[in-house]
Amino acid sequence: MRIAMVSEHASPLAASSGLGGVDAGGQNVAVRALALALTDAGHEVVVHTRRTDPTTPRRVPLAAGVVVDHVDAGPARELPKDDLVDHMDVFSDELAARWRCDLPDVVHAHFWMSGMAALPAARALGVPIVQTFHALGSVKRRHQGAEDTSPPRRVAVESDLGASVDRVLATCREEVDELLALGVPAGQATVVPCGVDVGHFTPGGESASRGERFRVLTVSRLVPRKGVDTVIGALGRLPDDVELVVAGGPPAAGLDDDPEVARLRDRARAEGVADRVVFVGAVGQDALPALYRSADVVACVPTYEPFGLVPLEAMGCARPVVAAAVGGLADTVVDGVTGHHVPAGDPAAVAAALEALRADPARARAQGRAGRRRAVAEYGWDRVAAAHERVYAAVAASAVAPRVGVLTTGSPA
Ligand code: UDP
Repeated sequence: MRIAMVSEHASPLAASSGLGGVDAGGQNVAVRALALALTDAGHEVVVHTRRTDPTTPRRVPLAAGVVVDHVDAGPARELPKDDLVDHMDVFSDELAARWRCDLPDVVHAHFWMSGMAALPAARALGVPIVQTFHALGSVKRRHQGAEDTSPPRRVAVESDLGASVDRVLATCREEVDELLALGVPAGQATVVPCGVDVGHFTPGGESASRGERFRVLTVSRLVPRKGVDTVIGALGRLPDDVELVVAGGPPAAGLDDDPEVARLRDRARAEGVADRVVFVGAVGQDALPALYRSADVVACVPTYEPFGLVPLEAMGCARPVVAAAVGGLADTVVDGVTGHHVPAGDPAAVAAALEALRADPARARAQGRAGRRRAVAEYGWDRVAAAHERVYAAVAASAVAPRVGVLTTGSPA
C-alpha cells in the first residue's frame, strides 16, 4: 500500500536525538518506528510533517521506502505545539495539493491537529483515513484544569474527528471509553497499541556505570504530569542506599536553567534526598538501553498517560516496572508479573512497591524477564505494524467515492 502519515508537530527525524524536551517524545518515536516497520512489510510510506527549519530539504529519505515530506505551514521555526492550530488550514491545502499528484491508498493522521488538516484533503479525494489521537484533550483538561494550554476547540474537533474518520486507532482500552464519552460511535475505535523496538531495547549488552546503591530510573519529558515528583517523594521513604536517576528534560548542560528541574530539586531538598537524585538530562535513544540496564527498577508514575513507551522500553531491557495504573500502563504492565501497579500520585505506594522489589532481587529479576517476554510477544513493531495493516486494508476495502470535507472545527480559539 501507499500510506500517507500525517504528524504535524512530531517529526520522525527528531526521534533519534532531541527527545525529552517539552514537546518531543513518544509520538516522534512511534511514527518513525511504525513507518519503518510498514516499509519492512513491503509498503511505501510518506510522513508529512511541518517544516521547522528553512534549510531542511522538502523531502528527506528516512530509509528505503520511507520519505519525510516537510510541509510549509506557518513560520519555518519551532513553535509551541499549542500554537500550530492556526496553520492547519494551510497544512490541509498543502496535503491536498500533494495527494492530487500522488494519491495514497490510505491516510493515517497522528494527533488531533493532523486529523484536522488531513480529513478534508482525504475526503475530497476519496482516500480512506484513520486517526490515532496519541492524547485526548478531554483527558488533558480533566487532569490539568486551568493549566491546560490546548486551544479551546480541541475537544470539539476530537469529537467530530472521531465520528468522521473511517476508523480511530485507540492506543489503550481506557481510550475507547473516553472516545465513547466524547460521542464517538461504538465500534468506531479499535485498540491498536504502540510498540517497542525489541531489537534495540534488549537485556544483553553494555550497561551504564553505577555504584552500589539500588537504582531507580525514570525516563520522561520533564513536565509535571509525568510524576517524577511522586518518585522523589517515594525516595524520601526509602533507605539511604536507594538512588533515583532522572533522564529527560534539556541536554545536561541546560539542566540548571530548566524550571521543572528547579521544581524537582526543591522537592528533593524538602524530602532530604537531594544527594540521591541524579539528573542526567536528555538521553539519546542510542544510549538509553545501557541506562535502562543499569537500573534495578524503572518507575513510571504519571498522573495520566495515553500510552507510554517508556515501560515497554524498560520491559524490553528486562527491567521490572513500577507503573501508575493509568491509560496504556494499565494494559502494558501486568501487576505482580512484569512489575507493580500503584495508584497515581501516591508516593507511599510507590515506596512500598520499590521496597518489595529491593527486598526480593530474585522476584525483581523474574519480573524483568517476564516483561521482556511480554514485550516481544505482544509489542514488537512487526506485530504492531501488522495490526495497522489489517485496519488499513479494511478501510481501503470499504472506501467511498470522493466527497467534500465534513469536519466542523467549532469556533476559532
Ligand atoms: N526519551 C528519550 N530521551 C529522554 C527522554 C525520553 O529518548 O531523555 C524517549 C523515550 O525513550 C520514549 C519517549 O521519549 O521513547 C517518551 O515516550 P512516552 O510514550 O513514554 O511519553 P510521551 O513523551 O509521549 O508523553
